[in-house]
Amino acid sequence: MSLDNPMSFKPYVLKKKEAYMSEGQRKHFEVILEAWKESLLEEMDRTMAHMQDESANFPDPMDRASQEEEFSLELRTRDRERKLIKKIDEALEALKNSEYGYCESCGAEIGLRRLEARPTASMCIDCKTLDEIKEKQLYS
Ligand SMILES: [Zn+2]
Repeated sequence: MSLDNPMSFKPYVLKKKEAYMSEGQRKHFEVILEAWKESLLEEMDRTMAHMQDESANFPDPMDRASQEEEFSLELRTRDRERKLIKKIDEALEALKNSEYGYCESCGAEIGLRRLEARPTASMCIDCKTLDEIKEKQLYS
């Protein structure tokens, strides 16, 4: 399990004529999102505990320097985790409001497989691509 790949779960198997974002599909993504969030929170706890353990142990300035480097890396990771958890919360909220699975920009279906690859996706692939192009033009 990594930050980018939520987890190993069984891909959703569609029943015959099953509608998009049926009860079963919503449950499927709720379980994925909750478990993902859970493991991120655990990871954050571990990082915190690790930093507290180590901060007392380096009287030597050289050791301290490399330790600080390590800490700033861990802080960046935690920052990423925090942002990700926020996105997961937003996705869970969208699930509750039956907005999950639809593009927030154009309203199109995002698609089961895309959501399984990226459960926090809030845009369809077309809007996302367009968005990235715009962003590139804005910041380059
Ligand atoms: Zn769209």
